[in-house]
Amino acid sequence: MTPLPVGSVIGILGDGQLGRMLASEAARLGFDVVVFGQDEDSPARRVASHSIVAEYTDRDALAELSVRCDLITLEFENVPVEALQILEDMGATVCPGQTSLKICQDRHLEKSFSREAGVMTADYHVVNSVDDAVVAFEALGGNGILKTRRDGYDGHGQRRLKPEDSPVQAFEDLREAPCVFEALVPFAGEMSVIVARRADGEMATFEPAENIHKNGILHISRAPSRYAEETKQAAIGAAKKLAEALGHVGVMACEFFVLESGEILLNEIAPRVHNSGHWTPEACITGQFEQHIRAIAGWPLGSTDRLMDVEMENLLGDDVMTAYGSAGPGDMITLYGKREMRAGRKMGHIVKRL
Ligand code: AMP
Repeated sequence: MTPLPVGSVIGILGDGQLGRMLASEAARLGFDVVVFGQDEDSPARRVASHSIVAEYTDRDALAELSVRCDLITLEFENVPVEALQILEDMGATVCPGQTSLKICQDRHLEKSFSREAGVMTADYHVVNSVDDAVVAFEALGGNGILKTRRDGYDGHGQRRLKPEDSPVQAFEDLREAPCVFEALVPFAGEMSVIVARRADGEMATFEPAENIHKNGILHISRAPSRYAEETKQAAIGAAKKLAEALGHVGVMACEFFVLESGEILLNEIAPRVHNSGHWTPEACITGQFEQHIRAIAGWPLGSTDRLMDVEMENLLGDDVMTAYGSAGPGDMITLYGKREMRAGRKMGHIVKRL
């Protein structure tokens, strides 16, 4: 495997905060970065050496990206698979590839893939019609979450149902989009594992983080987690198994529910750097963004050793206005440069040493 030479140009599909942090790390390693996204004033665009603003399936714009870049990656799993096909047809190398994207864009494919790979998930039913919604609701005793198969994030595209609710109404609220109805997991906690895989199969994982969500949005990630060693090892093993089965190249995140028994169930896979890994740049020898660039570039993976106990807290909406004032001198702040502040919007994060 020939490592990507220093000074090469890396393209990033997606222009949000993950792209911004990836672009900054790529630049630190000596690469130039071209960001491809739809927003004229995006967080990533403003730190890249060049940017292209276009629809993800705009052939001329993708041709420009392909010509400008030696290697292309992504920071956003809802990039249409078609964009990767167009780029590959033009001779571009894109990491991760179409399989990772296809599977992780669809909650049903993701869960069935995971189960086939031997990683359990919550019980669930596919819902394509009002009748399916009723059958699934009855099968799970009316306790569960109706989630759209595609395009959901941070609790969007979901309806939590109780036995007295109407599954038909919930399905209609979600515009009758193809869904899964997922059993409510009585979890004792949540955790995630960030794993990096190179094209030759070499892998490295970060220590599993303990995650706390608020209103369906990640609030806190903590390392070390409070879980038993056996649970952590099971999560690491599952993440590696899934990365291998996907043939994933780059960093990906696996989010798990942890049951009272210590058993784990996969919630979802993000085929990219992840919010629950935002503590790694400050706390580990190599952070997740650098690790992703190393993995796709075919460079040796860096050490994921953690140097301190930390807690990462997301700054949502106007939390960001008071972050500097309320943070202690040892708190490490990252702001995403988003111009528009909206309630619940991820604006930055703080990593606190514990
Ligand atoms: P998701 O968008 O599917 O990752 O869900 C966001 C958060 O909602 C999860 O991290 C959990 O805190 C909660 N959640 C999602 N699915 C379930 C479930 N089946 N049972 C219990 N809680 C869930």
